[in-house]
Parts: sequence; C-alpha cells; structure tokens
Amino acid sequence: MNLVLMGLPGAGKGTQAERIVDAYQIPHISTGDMFRAAMANQTALGLEAKAYMDKGELVPDEVTNGIVKERLAEPDTDKGFLLDGFPRTLDQAKALDQMLKELGKKLDAVVEIHVPSEILVERLAGRYMCRNCGATYHKIFNPTKVEGTCDRCGGHEFYQREDDKPETVKNRLAVNIKSSEPILSYYKDQGLLQSIDGDRDIDAVFADVQKIIG
Ligand SMILES: [Zn+2]
Repeated sequence: MNLVLMGLPGAGKGTQAERIVDAYQIPHISTGDMFRAAMANQTALGLEAKAYMDKGELVPDEVTNGIVKERLAEPDTDKGFLLDGFPRTLDQAKALDQMLKELGKKLDAVVEIHVPSEILVERLAGRYMCRNCGATYHKIFNPTKVEGTCDRCGGHEFYQREDDKPETVKNRLAVNIKSSEPILSYYKDQGLLQSIDGDRDIDAVFADVQKIIG
C-alpha cells in the first residue's frame, strides 16, 4: 500500500500517521526524518541539502526529490510506504510520479485529513500561558479549572505567544491551503484523492482511514 498523507497543521495528521504505520507495518517517510538521515549518513545529496540549510536557503526541489527517491528505493518500502510532508508543491507531485515510475511503483491513494480552517484556528490558537509562573493551558483542551485563575500559582494574568495568536495561525493556514490546493486537485483528477472528515475523534477518523486502505 503506497500512500501519501495530507492535512493542514492541527488536522491530526501525525496521530493518524502513527496509527497507520503501526497497523500496516509500513515505513513512515517524513521529509524531516529523511533530511536528518541523509545528513547524518553524509550522502552526497544530504551534504548538498546541508550546504543550503547552513546558508539559510531553501533546499531546491532537485535535491529534495533526489533524497525522496533514494529513500523510496530502499527495500523496506517494497510492501508499501506512507509519505508525509511530501509532495509540498505541484512540481514535487509530478516529480514523485516520475520517480515512482522509474522505481516500478505507483501510488494507491492520497489520504487527506480534512478539517475546516475555523476549527483548526480554534485548535491551534487556543494555547495561553500564565504570566507569573509560565504554566501552559489551552482554551478547549486544557483550560484553567477556575476561569481566569492559574491552577498552579493562582495568578490572574495570562498571555499568548506570537505563534499561538489567531492572526498568526490564520496566516500560516492560508499559506498552507494555498500550496496544498493544486496538489489536492492534481490527485483528485487522477482519482487518487480520499478526503476524510478529520473533525471527529481519533478512532472515528482512523476507522475511515482503514476503510480506504482496505
Ligand atoms: Zn501561574
């Protein structure tokens, strides 16, 4: 089963990825892990990627694609794989098709965990901290027991970090939506896209994932 997993930040992609690789015993191939491994093993492409990152530059597609292809050529992917964080652009999606073709493989499905952005903003922008002791809370998942009073120190002043503020979160989501839309329609046109309602509990979402994977 050769899968691509997609979903916006906060959609619960990481949790579903863990469940999938546990249940189906296929390798979880995330771009972050791949880059770290290529650099740690000092492969030619890993060193090239490192040179760009050290300069604070974006790693060009040809290097990223090369690292993905090397990873997909490893024998543990023979029974399948779960790609996570790649492709990030339409060009990368097309490059993935090409490299899979060269490797004699093809995608079976692209699973999108779909959560409306208003709900993602609630999930991602809910974190706040006690100004006095630094205790962390979340408006939905972990609020203070008494509203406006820190459980730990009794303080009454709270603040949000810049990254957790609704405006910052909305902007981050907008950037992600804009880049993922062409990829989703590319896979939809190929009949590969399976969108799952991710605004439910983890088990219900995973049950749908299992239906798709069969
Ligand atoms: Zn406190």
